Amino acid sequence: MRARDETITCSIGIDDDRAFGAVTPPIYLSANYSFAAFREPRAYDYTRSGNPTRDQLADALAKLERGAGAIVTASGMSAVHLVLSLVPCGALVVAPHDCYGGTWRLLHSLAERKLIEVAFADLTNPETVSRALARRPFLVWVETPSNPLMRLTDIRQVVARAESVNALVAVDNTFLSPILQKPLLLGADFVVHSTTKYLNGHSDVVGGAVIAAKREHAEQLASWANCTGVTGAPFDAWLTLRGLRTITVRVSRQEQTALAIARFLDRHPRVRIVHYPGLESDPGHALAKQQQYGFGGMLSFEVEDEAAAEAIVNALKVFTLAESLGGVESLVCHPATMTHACLTDEARSACGITQGLLRLTIGLEAEWDLVGDLAQALSRLDEEQHPILARKFDARATGT
Ligand SMILES: *Cc1c(COP(=O)(O)O)cnc(C)c1O
Repeated sequence: MRARDETITCSIGIDDDRAFGAVTPPIYLSANYSFAAFREPRAYDYTRSGNPTRDQLADALAKLERGAGAIVTASGMSAVHLVLSLVPCGALVVAPHDCYGGTWRLLHSLAERKLIEVAFADLTNPETVSRALARRPFLVWVETPSNPLMRLTDIRQVVARAESVNALVAVDNTFLSPILQKPLLLGADFVVHSTTKYLNGHSDVVGGAVIAAKREHAEQLASWANCTGVTGAPFDAWLTLRGLRTITVRVSRQEQTALAIARFLDRHPRVRIVHYPGLESDPGHALAKQQQYGFGGMLSFEVEDEAAAEAIVNALKVFTLAESLGGVESLVCHPATMTHACLTDEARSACGITQGLLRLTIGLEAEWDLVGDLAQALSRLDEEQHPILARKFDARATGT
């Protein structure tokens, strides 16, 4: 029987130390390893090629994603680039029109230099998927749920269509983590992670990983990672493995709180729409229940305009205004001026990112403190419309 995720994260490397019986694994920072004797190399010779600490993290990630092997890289972007290194010169990559900004920039830049061809398409729509796949891509890139509108792509359906034209499928699983979605079990060939986010979970390491379904792909990727030197640092791998041990409890609490916040926002008169697949009314709800093991800790919501979004951001005390996600601290982000600022106005409105949209990443603070923080921030909108009334109300509430 396969171990469950909690058991994988809590047992990798535990009590494996043969030197002193250390219960938690030591860090092997050494750049190089001695030969036992002339012509007798040991398991490791040089840390760019292989490192015991990094291998423990890779082993954990491969097991969590149910892959044949994993390569741990220095960042999420180097993991994305590592998968793209398999694409033959001039071949076509199909990617979501609303993919992660860094991925969009990398694909765009590689295409500009004629190293690959790229076609951006709305992969949540079966018709545009068919049209894009008719061009016979080498690789289809999937990101689900999307950032920041939490739109879902049907991984099984994309895989079935990709198989019919012999295309490989890579899924960026950063938003959900392997705890809540296992794309390789849905037929994908590769999973990519920015381990910076949920996997490390403490916002103190930048890192990435690629997990391959097939051993031959894992070997090809490992060899290429060694060639180009994108493998991650041992200390980062050790910290990430330390963070990973608690991921199952972290994501389940974050999801529980996210659902409470989504329900609160959904009922709020100043909120136009909430994007969270955990809400029964969300267009992605049924598919999320089918292909995910949970709804995750990310959501976004829309208020009237940029001024309203700014007023909320300025009033929030528990949420920090910052990019990134997946840490223990709750964050608020204004996609139009932050994560998605590099898009043109037309491109932003084409994928539905308005000036009044705010994205939340839910941390591990008390649910009540987070809901309360949003409630007081949203109440400022009424204060701005009716400043005198609101001040009177405040005075009554505080008894002054
Ligand atoms: C952050 C992120 C990346 C890039 O990862 P880095 O670790 O910042 O290089 C890629 N994809 C998604 C979905 C991300 O959120």
